[in-house]
Amino acid sequence: MSDSENILKRRRFLRGKFASTHTPIRPPWAYDEAVFIERCSRCNACIDHCETGILFKGDGGFPEVDFARGECTFCQACVSHCQPGALSLSIASPWNLVAWINESCLAQNGVICMTCREQCPEQAIEIQPRLGSAALPVIDSERCNGCGACFAPCPTQSIQISEAKVL
Ligand code: SF4
Ligand code: SF4
Ligand code: SF4
Repeated sequence: MSDSENILKRRRFLRGKFASTHTPIRPPWAYDEAVFIERCSRCNACIDHCETGILFKGDGGFPEVDFARGECTFCQACVSHCQPGALSLSIASPWNLVAWINESCLAQNGVICMTCREQCPEQAIEIQPRLGSAALPVIDSERCNGCGACFAPCPTQSIQISEAKVL
């Protein structure tokens, strides 16, 4: 099987895995899921005011983030329009999301690609040179704020964004 066939096979596998374990990503500064569901009136105000249009009406009518539509700029418009208080700046951090790169990454498969690094506003992606192969993009989870800017531009959809593991 060729490298490109392997990459496509891996992408299909990861998409299937994601679909079966889908956990909604709530707008930034959301309360924990139980409180959020209790408070959110499904008014759509956050969706209507998101400057990058990344929010959509998800399961049950509750808002979710879709990074395929763009990135979060942390403009806080969603929070300031949330009258029921399901989103609140009293929560210290907008979320606990970080990006990571899966095995379908072009660079990991020997093809030069720096697309994700070029998109990252936080300079959270370093490129590590390798002898005899394409340099590797590596995400610094301390610098990554989960904005999602690297997600959509990746040509092989190799970026995943999920909750950082709490150690
Ligand atoms: S902070 Fe701004 S860009 Fe981010 S989800 Fe809210 S409205 Fe959209
Ligand atoms: S603005 Fe607040 S209450 Fe309205 S849908 Fe968004 S999170 Fe829910
Ligand atoms: S999610 Fe944002 S901060 Fe994190 S690596 Fe991607 S572009 Fe950079």
